[in-house]
Amino acid sequence: MSEHQAKPARWGADYVQAISPYIGGKPIAEVARQFGLQPERIVKLASNENPLGMSPKARQAIVQALADSPRYPDNDGYALKQALAHKLGVSAEWITLGHGSSDLLEMAARALLTDADAGLYSRYSFIVYTQAVQGVGATHQIVPDRDFGHDLPAMLAAITPQTKLIFVANPNNPTGTFLPADELHDFLRQVPPHVAVVLDEAYVEYIQPDLRYDSMAWVREFPNLIVSRTFSKAYGLAGLRMGYGVSQPALTDVLNRVRSAFNTSTLGQAAALAALDDQGFIEQAYAVNRAGQAQLAAAFDALGLRHVPSQGNFILVKVGEDAGAGARVNLALLQRGVIARPVDNYGLPQWLRISVGTEEENATCIEALRAHYAAS
Ligand SMILES: *Cc1c(COP(=O)(O)O)cnc(C)c1O
Repeated sequence: MSEHQAKPARWGADYVQAISPYIGGKPIAEVARQFGLQPERIVKLASNENPLGMSPKARQAIVQALADSPRYPDNDGYALKQALAHKLGVSAEWITLGHGSSDLLEMAARALLTDADAGLYSRYSFIVYTQAVQGVGATHQIVPDRDFGHDLPAMLAAITPQTKLIFVANPNNPTGTFLPADELHDFLRQVPPHVAVVLDEAYVEYIQPDLRYDSMAWVREFPNLIVSRTFSKAYGLAGLRMGYGVSQPALTDVLNRVRSAFNTSTLGQAAALAALDDQGFIEQAYAVNRAGQAQLAAAFDALGLRHVPSQGNFILVKVGEDAGAGARVNLALLQRGVIARPVDNYGLPQWLRISVGTEEENATCIEALRAHYAAS
């Protein structure tokens, strides 16, 4: 036997083999093929995307930036960072651009964790935290939730000398729970200064106005804080993969050391820059989301389905009592052309996460749920 045939059956370290690959929401084309449906009639409420699409300004910027795409993008993202710095009231040197904000989460793990360290996060929080920690072979410290959200005192109590990085999502995905500003600020004050905290604000634009807080002031106050945000959700640029982190220079420096070369594209940078300039679009997205939340919540109540109050653009709803409920109702919805998100991989097999769509999309989803429960 040649040496080439004597390859190991399994590649990579054990901690790599232990990674569960990320499962995204099902693409419309795949559901159309599988269930013999017309793609135009399928409603996708599975990935917390903006049902309004993107700002026309962003679309126009993308078309213009096509001409520059034969060349490499600006590796430093100068124009976008300048615009973000201006909007956020921080220096451009405090910003790290990411290929989506998931990229930022991974960069934080690569820069700050080794296989001798631990990353700490809450049960029922974003699954990319698990992957980021697992991807560098570090230990997971998973703290039980409090009412589906973060239990900050318990997270503080769980910090050990091994802990080097903490992830907190506010609002949280997949549950939609929200931590008030004073609780979060208290928490940040008590985290030891050598432990970094990623405050993941992917849904910040959807927080109701009276609950909003100034996390940029916290970045100025805490040298161990990274705030991450994305253009994937309210800005409607999920397919272009654009996100960013804000942190003081020493942390920003290490994040940029592990950042992949040219991690954000020419089209993505141009679209994000133009999207920042359309606050009206964000306000419209906010209003559509609020109305849709009320529409879905009322329908869940009418169907007797428990749901978790959400500050995001999605709702976690309990669709049955048995462990097969999530999968069963998800299939029933798929057959009726509605793509929701099963969350059994989060340990929530009785629940589905449903993104808020347009009024019409929500109505289609509600009708499919009614039909399912009427028939079962
Ligand atoms: C969607 C989401 C993100 C960001 O996703 P990207 O598309 O990679 O920017 C980050 N955190 C949470 C909690 C999310 O739900």
